[in-house]
Amino acid sequence: MSLDGIYDDGNVFALILQGKIPSTKLYEDEHTYAFLDIQPQSKGHSLVISKWSRARNILEVEDEALAQIMATVKKVANATRKALDPDGIHVAQFNGAPAGQTVFHLHVHIVPRWEGQSRNFVAHAQGDFADPATLQALAEEIRAQF
Ligand code: AMP
Repeated sequence: MSLDGIYDDGNVFALILQGKIPSTKLYEDEHTYAFLDIQPQSKGHSLVISKWSRARNILEVEDEALAQIMATVKKVANATRKALDPDGIHVAQFNGAPAGQTVFHLHVHIVPRWEGQSRNFVAHAQGDFADPATLQALAEEIRAQF
C-alpha cells in the first residue's frame, strides 16, 4: 500500500483496539495503547498506537494524536529500560509498504537493543512469533516499572 489510501477498519491494530483479537498490554491511557509485538525484533519490542486517530501514517496524523503517541513512547521506553536494562533503545516508524510498513494504522516501534546484538530490522513476515506465555511474563516485568 502506498502513502495514499483509505483507513481500513479491519486492520489488525483496529481489531486489537476493538478487543476482537488479543494483545499483550503494557500501558494504556485515554488516547493511546501500548502492547508487545508478536514478532519481536528483540526482547521487549513494543508498539504504541493512537486509540482514536484513523491516520495510516505520519503524513496524515493529527498533531494532537502524534503528541499523545510520543508521550506514551517516552513512558514505555523508560519502563522498558528499568525492566530490561538495554544498552540502547531503537524508536522506529515506517510509512508505506516500500518503507517496510505492513499494518496501516500509524504505530511507533520501541525496540530495546543490547551491545553485540544485531540491529537489523527484518521484514514482518520473516520474524519468529513469540510464545504468548513469554510475552505475558515480559509484559508483567515492564508493567511493574510504570
Ligand atoms: P510495520 O512493519 O511497521 O507495519 O510493523 C507492524 C508490526 O506489527 C510488526 O512488527 C508485526 O510483528 C506487528 N504485529 C502484527 N500483528 C500483530 C499483533 N496481532 N499483535 C502484535 N503485534 C503485531
